[in-house]
Amino acid sequence: MNTDLLVVGSGFFGLTIADRAARELGLRVTVIDRRPHIGGNAYSENEPQTGIEVHRYGAHLFHTSNERVWEYVNRFTTFTDYVHRVYTQHRGEVFPMPINLGTINQFFRSAYGPDAARELIREQAGELAGTDPQNLNDKGIQLIGRPLYEAFIKHYTAKQWQTDPSELPAEVISRLPVRYTYDNRYFNDTYEGLPTDGYTAWLERMADHPNIDVHLDTDFFDESQPFSKGNAVGQVPVVYTGPVDRYFDYAEGALQWRTLDFEEEVLPTGDFQGTSVMNYPDADVPFTRIHEFRHFHPERDWYPTDRTVIMREFSRFAEQGDEPYYPVNTAADRERLLKYRTLAKQERDVLFGGRLGTYKYLDMHMAIGSALTMFDNRLRPFLEGSGPLESGDGGA
Ligand code: FAD
Ligand code: UDP
Repeated sequence: MNTDLLVVGSGFFGLTIADRAARELGLRVTVIDRRPHIGGNAYSENEPQTGIEVHRYGAHLFHTSNERVWEYVNRFTTFTDYVHRVYTQHRGEVFPMPINLGTINQFFRSAYGPDAARELIREQAGELAGTDPQNLNDKGIQLIGRPLYEAFIKHYTAKQWQTDPSELPAEVISRLPVRYTYDNRYFNDTYEGLPTDGYTAWLERMADHPNIDVHLDTDFFDESQPFSKGNAVGQVPVVYTGPVDRYFDYAEGALQWRTLDFEEEVLPTGDFQGTSVMNYPDADVPFTRIHEFRHFHPERDWYPTDRTVIMREFSRFAEQGDEPYYPVNTAADRERLLKYRTLAKQERDVLFGGRLGTYKYLDMHMAIGSALTMFDNRLRPFLEGSGPLESGDGGA
């Protein structure tokens, strides 16, 4: 096989590995992806009627506090000064998200200061106040009290995950800050912004190197193509970023994933909702949120002023053939995952990485950060000939 390394999947994890192996070590890297484009879920393209950049697999906001990742991503793109803010529409009224003093005071028709609001939430959290619950339901109530939890979290989470919140891990909700100020920035990170020329230009720059060879429409499990599992494993080191259960032919049972359906519409107005993301936390609305893509790039003065692109997002369990987006991660899934990790450790010269390969809820900066770590600690010593390839689960 005429390559030094095979990377399965051209998302941020795979492209970071490919970039480092090619640019840092001068190796020949083959990247395959079964989709017709690079970039994995971060891929974006311009909607043809309007020229508005649409994130094909759901809105992607870049944010990080990791200095190394920030320095690394800036080699490939500059970022705008976009700051993400989200609003949520509950019973015909719009509130700021994540929950902050503005949300609390609007919800309770009050004018609490930070201390009084904290005291109120403590009372409303009841017996869960001050505890550290492990499931999403109890964590939600502990964080914001029952009334706010039921208005803004309970049904949104039920729509998004279709799993009883008491079976979901607390980390899912811990991602959302709760603030006793009027700060309604969605993310807490030091750095935030959107790639100035769009995601695809960024991703293409990562792959643009004479030593990186990208093959699209190429499935690792299609044994008729030269870079298939049967042809490659044991012949060349492999970094695999597809679903870990699929790699082992679901030997330990299928891991549960959530997928999304997107309903895109071009509307004859310059502005549909006045903001980039509006959440819908009520049970009687079937979608979870509406994205309006023009608002991600207010600096793009070439966007039309009489048309806009919106995308409604619906969530459901993934069935075979659907794109796996989010690991559901129930206790049963975690048990299965442990078995897959054991299998992964036994797989010779194959490393598993990324959101699908580790069955982890990774943001872009986390996928990039863990790829850099895998490269430094495991791939580099092996590729430079100074150590064995410690096989196993890259995110473990
Ligand atoms: P992916 O991007 O999923 O790439 C994996 C690639 O592997 C895919 O291209 C796939 O086609 C390919 N592949 C799979 N199986 C095979 C096979 N058998 N053969 C060949 N190729 C294969 N992160 C943020 O930081 N901010 C956000 O706002 C944000 N929003 C998100 C919204 C949604 C709806 C989703 C799904 C994710 C979001 N993310 C966000 C996370 C972000 O998409 C991931 O962190 C990032 O995509 C991880 O990169 P990855 O390379 O691990 O996986
Ligand atoms: N969440 C919620 N209501 C909201 C926004 C988020 O209940 O209005 C919960 C929900 O369970 C979700 C989690 O918080 O899965 C994390 O939200 P985030 O916006 O980070 O989800 P993502 O953008 O990754 O889908």
